[in-house]
Amino acid sequence: MSTSVHETSSVKEYFAALINGITTTVHGMWITFRYVWGVKHVSIEYPEVREVLPERARMRLFNDVLNCISCTQCAMACPVDCIYIASEKKPEGAEIKKTSNGQPIRLTLTQFVIDTALCCYCGLCTTVCPTECLTHSHDYEFSQYTIDGMKYDYLAPDVIAWRDRIVKS
Ligand code: SF4
Ligand code: SF4
Repeated sequence: MSTSVHETSSVKEYFAALINGITTTVHGMWITFRYVWGVKHVSIEYPEVREVLPERARMRLFNDVLNCISCTQCAMACPVDCIYIASEKKPEGAEIKKTSNGQPIRLTLTQFVIDTALCCYCGLCTTVCPTECLTHSHDYEFSQYTIDGMKYDYLAPDVIAWRDRIVKS
């Protein structure tokens, strides 16, 4: 008789545990389902799909060197000293061209390099530029194999090549 009561109790416990297992699983799956079903997608199929960046996003710097007057204000404002500029005086009697906003170009720019590995994208250099030739582009795809590759010479043809791509886009 006592064995029978014990068996009945074990069967009850078994079914109680089974029902509990099923209901908690269904409850958990319902929570998961509601989350997965209702949640907005946050990932994109990069690189086929690209984010549209905010208008004022600060990505790779771009210097339109034809409008640069070599004033070095950008380099002086840079908190990490990652802008390297060199220039020389124009020869006596040489034509003094003007930038697109009317500033005379009295010096010949011979070097304009930014070490973007050091740059913190603060935007100070673009803010002080009197000719507005130095701006942040929307180009964020410029990884390199070496740290030295992050130094961009804005007078070099290969950098001018990506500059042209940015200007057209
Ligand atoms: S964005 Fe800031 S850190 Fe980068 S070059 Fe300009 S001033 Fe320097
Ligand atoms: S502040 Fe502008 S104009 Fe002056 S050197 Fe820098 S990029 Fe050129």
